Amino acid sequence: MSQFTAYTGRFAPSPTGPLHFGSLITALASWCEARTQNGRWLVRIEDTDIPRNQTGAEHRILSALVTYGLYADCSIERQQDHLENYNHMIDALKAQNLVYACSCSRKQLTGLSAYPNTCRDKGLPFEGNAIRLKTLDKTICFTDRIQGQVCENLRQTRGDFVLRRRDGIISYQLAVVVDDMRQGVTDIVRGADLLDNTVRQIWLRKCLNRLQLPYLSSIEPIYCHIPLAMNAQGQKLSKQNLAVPLPKTEIVATLQKAFVALGQVLVEADTPDEFLKSAMTHWDLSRVPRGSQLEGIFI
Ligand SMILES: [Zn+2]
Repeated sequence: MSQFTAYTGRFAPSPTGPLHFGSLITALASWCEARTQNGRWLVRIEDTDIPRNQTGAEHRILSALVTYGLYADCSIERQQDHLENYNHMIDALKAQNLVYACSCSRKQLTGLSAYPNTCRDKGLPFEGNAIRLKTLDKTICFTDRIQGQVCENLRQTRGDFVLRRRDGIISYQLAVVVDDMRQGVTDIVRGADLLDNTVRQIWLRKCLNRLQLPYLSSIEPIYCHIPLAMNAQGQKLSKQNLAVPLPKTEIVATLQKAFVALGQVLVEADTPDEFLKSAMTHWDLSRVPRGSQLEGIFI
């Protein structure tokens, strides 16, 4: 049996601010799904976008997870510890002629919905330029467990997309796909705001599979995009929209609220651990509302 076949889920917050109720909803959904499948649940800090990282945010996120009883099964990973690995992947993709350097400025690309692949055949040096992954003029589809079938032709919607920025920052797409493959993630349960990244990630995964690296899982993960909690202004709860940090008291009540928002039954409990134990037995993914937004207003 391959080392990568067991159910492995993950929660992957960015240290750009504290966890809020919207983060709790996705963390709880991915935790419950992993637990009911007797799987592993990993926590990974997605901190490659260094300028956006907030001092102390990682510590606050990890303490909030502990407060809410959501313990990871393996030690916490940080993407910054794997920068060398991502850059190595770019070199390997380069050797397969799957990536190229792009010198276009943001200004040159303003107003374009898809990158017109301007630099594809220019043979520019990799040093000091953005690196883009080649895409095909072909529709890629996948079936999401909640959102149904999703199809996208990357050439038409995005064009060749960035894996490493000109300033050397590794893109979210590259870091997340390499980590999910390296950690053998089989099931990706995350917020519906990330749904439109998925086809790019599937394509990148296919390209990385061509490298046939034994430490990267070649299993295609199953996707499950959870509808988002919205505020009174109709915006998703997010750090950018100044969502309130998760409370440090009334933990069980907050967990119950998140569980019910996910369409689940009300579970009575006195402590977070007791709640989670019971939530695990009552969790039913088919009860999670369909669509991209949850009913109700949250803060
Ligand atoms: Zn370019």
